[in-house]
Amino acid sequence: MKKLIALILKLLTGSKGPVEPVMLDEGMLSGNFSADEFRCKCCGQLHPSGVMPPRELLDILEDTRAHFGAPVSISSGYRCSRHNARVGGAKASRHMEGDAADIQVKGVSASKVYAYIAKRVGDRGGVGRYNSFTHVDVRGYKARW
Ligand SMILES: [Zn+2]
Ligand SMILES: [Zn+2]
Repeated sequence: MKKLIALILKLLTGSKGPVEPVMLDEGMLSGNFSADEFRCKCCGQLHPSGVMPPRELLDILEDTRAHFGAPVSISSGYRCSRHNARVGGAKASRHMEGDAADIQVKGVSASKVYAYIAKRVGDRGGVGRYNSFTHVDVRGYKARW
């Protein structure tokens, strides 16, 4: 009987059958990165004004993961101003804008990660070289350090 009703509905509405519930893992921002990884370490905020990390940043992180074929961990994503000051971040740190991430790629040196990301980001963002991690942001113009 259910099948018949579904068939009639299908004929009447032209839809492709019953709508399946979309199984979204709500904690995920992209295929491999969760919202929790971006949250401020002190207050748990994800972004100023509640906006999600930009798609462009997530795309860069996904591409980096695919390029090296290794997991990417985010040691610092969004920072509220209090946390930024505590960890000695730059006064106008992009981490406070929510469009930056400090990352490590498992088994890959920070200098190799820097080289790839600098190329991938091009003129559209900032890339910083550190001993044990690489900073990346999508500020909209080129910055390197
Ligand atoms: Zn905080
Ligand atoms: Zn950073």
